[in-house]
Amino acid sequence: MSHVLRRTLTGDQPVIVKGEGSYLIDSTGKRYLDACGGAAVSSLGHDNVRVREAIAKQMETLSFAHTGLFTNEPAETLADYLIEHAPDGTGEGRVMYLGSGSEAMEAALKLARQYHVERGDTGRRHIIARMPSYHGNTLGALAVSGHAGRRAPFAPLLIDVEHIDAAYAYRFQRDGESEADFALRMANQLEERVQKLGPETVAAFVAEPVVGASLGSQPAPAGYFKRIREICDTHGILYIADEVMCGMGRTGSLFALEQEGIAADITTMAKGLGAGYQPIAAVMASEKVVNAILAGSGKLWNGHTYMSHAVATAGAMAVMREIEDRNLLSEVRRLGDRLSSGLRARLGQHPHVGDIRGRGLFWTAEVVADRDTKEPFDVKLNMAGRILNTGKDAGVICYPSQGCADGTSGDHVLLAPCFTSTDAEIDTIVDVMATTIETETAKAA
Ligand code: PMP
Repeated sequence: MSHVLRRTLTGDQPVIVKGEGSYLIDSTGKRYLDACGGAAVSSLGHDNVRVREAIAKQMETLSFAHTGLFTNEPAETLADYLIEHAPDGTGEGRVMYLGSGSEAMEAALKLARQYHVERGDTGRRHIIARMPSYHGNTLGALAVSGHAGRRAPFAPLLIDVEHIDAAYAYRFQRDGESEADFALRMANQLEERVQKLGPETVAAFVAEPVVGASLGSQPAPAGYFKRIREICDTHGILYIADEVMCGMGRTGSLFALEQEGIAADITTMAKGLGAGYQPIAAVMASEKVVNAILAGSGKLWNGHTYMSHAVATAGAMAVMREIEDRNLLSEVRRLGDRLSSGLRARLGQHPHVGDIRGRGLFWTAEVVADRDTKEPFDVKLNMAGRILNTGKDAGVICYPSQGCADGTSGDHVLLAPCFTSTDAEIDTIVDVMATTIETETAKAA
């Protein structure tokens, strides 16, 4: 059995045979407490009955009908829900569905270009994104990603994208600089880059409202996104919010951008949308973008075979209803407070933990060689990988990363537990991960 399973390219890993609440169970019976939802995916745990039943029920009537020819009830119901709950300012938007976060980012970039072309503004070709950031694995999404390590092998294949600095307070905020000044200075990098390129050549600005994979979980300083919105509006540039990781309740509101008091022109979402029960992603276009298309060709210049999949959208709708009916957004905030105060109590003064940051149930410890100088551990040490393996041996799964794997940032230990976690599970996550970080950094020091 095992040699057949290992024919997958992802390699030599335990064989998971069952999900139970916040736990995954492998073929030897070992239980892993899922402290990261596999990358902020599994918000409802691994055996949600309502979602499972909604998926099974949908399969009894309709699984697939091609989006080029038809729409279907589950896809429309979910789109209504997302638009109704979108940040104020989205207006009468519309939704398109895809299979993954990367596909959603590709579609968002193309939609931004379509918007300008429909309006006859065909000179708008530049995309501006941030460094660090991560927006996906496909070539377009990787091109916008500000992630040196993941870009490097594919650099000759990537389209040109401009990058400004992300608002990464731990390393970029100056001594004595206020949060408001920091927010303004970082956002104004966009204005400076737009001026350099020529405002009439810029199509879109791309940013995660709370940065995920490349920085762990990094919220923006207050006021940053208001200034971004202002700059985009002044120059007719679209703002694409990548909520693939931070959206769908992860930060304590359905959309992370709600907390910044602005709406995006185009929003992508994925992981928490299906919560792992079905592969599904979505792109939400605001009324402004929809109107440009309706006044122009009236068609979407983007198509994939499995868009608007009835089973995937029915599953995602059940995820949304679970979050709403069980009041899970307030649980995210409550459990998030417990998680962050636990991490601060255990690791706040640790000599190898430089920063603890996050929002909602999305928290990260940045591990460094020297807390005073903020110098990262040597990338070759693979500190993030060691923490993952030791935590996994101890039965807790975190999402570690080596920042951008280029030594400009430390090793990040990201925690994104299920919204349905118990208090005791959160305490276990804090305890095991803090012990793991203490042990592994002591060995390397
Ligand atoms: N955007 C962000 C913010 C992400 O975190 C990710 C995945 N980590 C993606 C896009 C790509 O999503 P996927 O892996 O589903 O293609």
